[in-house]
Amino acid sequence: MSTKVLNIRYLIDLCKQLRGLDNDQKDDFIRYNVRYYQLFMTIALSGGCLAAIMCLYSDYLLNGTIMPTLIPRLSLLVPLGIFLYINKKISNYKLSIALNHGMLHFVLLSTIWAVYYLQDKTYFAAGAVTIHIIMWTLGFSSRIKDTFISYILYFGFILLSDTFNHYDNMQIILALNIPCAFAVLFAQIILTLITFDHYLAIKKMEKETITDELTQVGNRVMLEDITDKANMKISNPSALIMLDIDHFKNVNDRHGHIVGDNVLKYLADYVQKSVRKNDYVIRYGGEEFLVILNNCTIEEGTKTINKIRRSVSTDTNSPVPITISAGIAEYTGDYTTALKLADEALYEAKNSGRNKVVVNA
Ligand code: GH3
Ligand code: MG
Ligand code: MG
Repeated sequence: MSTKVLNIRYLIDLCKQLRGLDNDQKDDFIRYNVRYYQLFMTIALSGGCLAAIMCLYSDYLLNGTIMPTLIPRLSLLVPLGIFLYINKKISNYKLSIALNHGMLHFVLLSTIWAVYYLQDKTYFAAGAVTIHIIMWTLGFSSRIKDTFISYILYFGFILLSDTFNHYDNMQIILALNIPCAFAVLFAQIILTLITFDHYLAIKKMEKETITDELTQVGNRVMLEDITDKANMKISNPSALIMLDIDHFKNVNDRHGHIVGDNVLKYLADYVQKSVRKNDYVIRYGGEEFLVILNNCTIEEGTKTINKIRRSVSTDTNSPVPITISAGIAEYTGDYTTALKLADEALYEAKNSGRNKVVVNA
């Protein structure tokens, strides 16, 4: 396995993949970033506020007193407190991004307010540059358009503040800040691609963790995940089906394990394609599969699984002819009992001749 190296070609490839995502996938990517980096955003913004308040010392050096700028500087604590309070409660990621940028603008606004009381306002040119560091940090969980809009506001506030702060060095302020804004926007394009790369790696790893390697249907980890009491993903009612290949040992014995493996892959694929998108197909053990038909009564489930059983027994695409047996029970809130009932039904199907579905109502 070779280690990935970030080079231009790879970044271009990531860019194409990112552009190829549909809206739901894009949303999922941004939501993931917002959730993952939120603590980092909170620390960065709190640090930014602290740095802005610490400018009281430079105010003292310029004015010889901190009194005139004390209130503008300390006023930042109010939006910071509100930000820290509501930040944790927000689940909408777009609102979360807006809140982060809003907080950044409060840093700028309190600075502008403090500068109003400075005898020498020329240092604002350099002071404002520090805002770009926060803007760059917010890039971890912002979309490029968020940063762009935020910069329009940033320069808007600076230009507006000139009407009352009357900067002597407006050209210098813009000459220092505009290149910084371009640098941050450019860095954010790269940062977005890097966070996208991490997102793809995590999604791949998550999928592999819950997928059976041979058959590519769900595995026992997925089953634990969807039946976790705190996060139950099986709807009520649902049909629980235990499905097992008949005399599979004979397939291995007669045709070899590779053919046996191909039969497992074929059946898993066949069943997966025969059920709906929100149903689950899980490899429960060797040649045993658990099928969960969500929002489905036992009658509908029996029809579905009988149809699958019949078509599998006559399907010429199977590597070798096979038949399957199944036990079905209804899930009405107690997963363990439903599984036990389906298991008992499968046992009965095996004992009463195989190639059949037994219902345990
Ligand atoms: P029954 O009709 O009662 O279910 O009989 P059976 O032969 O299907 O059941 P049994 O439990 O006796 O045998 C299951 C076989 O499945 C034994 C095992 O070698 C085989 N098996 C389990 N996992 C795999 C696998 O990943 N690949 C292959 N090729 N065979 C497997
Ligand atoms: Mg079997
Ligand atoms: Mg078995």
